[in-house]
Amino acid sequence: MEFEVYHRSVCGHRENNEDSVLVDDEMRIYVVADGMGGHAAGEVASRLAVNAVRDVLVGQCDPDETRLVRDFDPEDASDMMRERLRYAMNQASVQIRREAEQRPGTRGMGTTVVALVVDGDRAHLAHVGDSRAYLLRGDTLIRLTRDHTVVQQEIDAGRLTPELARLLPQRNILTQSVGFHGPVEPDTSTRVIQPGDTFLLCSDGLTDALDDDKLRALMAEHSPDELVDVLVDTALRDGAEDNVTVVVVAASE
Ligand code: CA
Repeated sequence: MEFEVYHRSVCGHRENNEDSVLVDDEMRIYVVADGMGGHAAGEVASRLAVNAVRDVLVGQCDPDETRLVRDFDPEDASDMMRERLRYAMNQASVQIRREAEQRPGTRGMGTTVVALVVDGDRAHLAHVGDSRAYLLRGDTLIRLTRDHTVVQQEIDAGRLTPELARLLPQRNILTQSVGFHGPVEPDTSTRVIQPGDTFLLCSDGLTDALDDDKLRALMAEHSPDELVDVLVDTALRDGAEDNVTVVVVAASE
């Protein structure tokens, strides 16, 4: 299967861009990370995370440290990949905390991570935090990730509606992040890719500005090559106050 891949990351109205993006078309690894922590520590955390995830996935780190921690089915390539992703995020967390101990002013830094790995016709996803993955299939937009946020917990418990949650100032408080929270338990999943599928990875700068209905309309109306600019420019025009990062991975028809 052939893929078209596009990405864009903008500072927006902030001083620093604390988002990091990894687009590795050869290995078909795509990662968005949204860092947090004062004095540019967020940038450090998100960059460390995307590099650590990539290094684990391509096997470029210390062999002792690439040992997988959970039993997995060696006959099941998807299960193995999901476990590698889980392990990669925990490695990223270790590296961020190590760096934070050594570098003044970065204590407490952390980052979200959402990662997509394409292997043949399989899409493997893993995430921690509130950076999201979506899939547009036909005219239907499917949110593939569930935010690790306090408001999402309240929505799941039936105490809050998604519409109301979007208005709350605390909407971005995370229940887990890579680095700051220590060991992480990413959600992982695998999907079979169909021709015409368009995957979107994004930071919350995009989804704070554009709700899912708006995202669906924009994704359905525009070709993959137009999409990154359309999404970022619309988010900025519609009042995005944060860094905005998007990666579009579209499977050819
Ligand atoms: Ca953000």
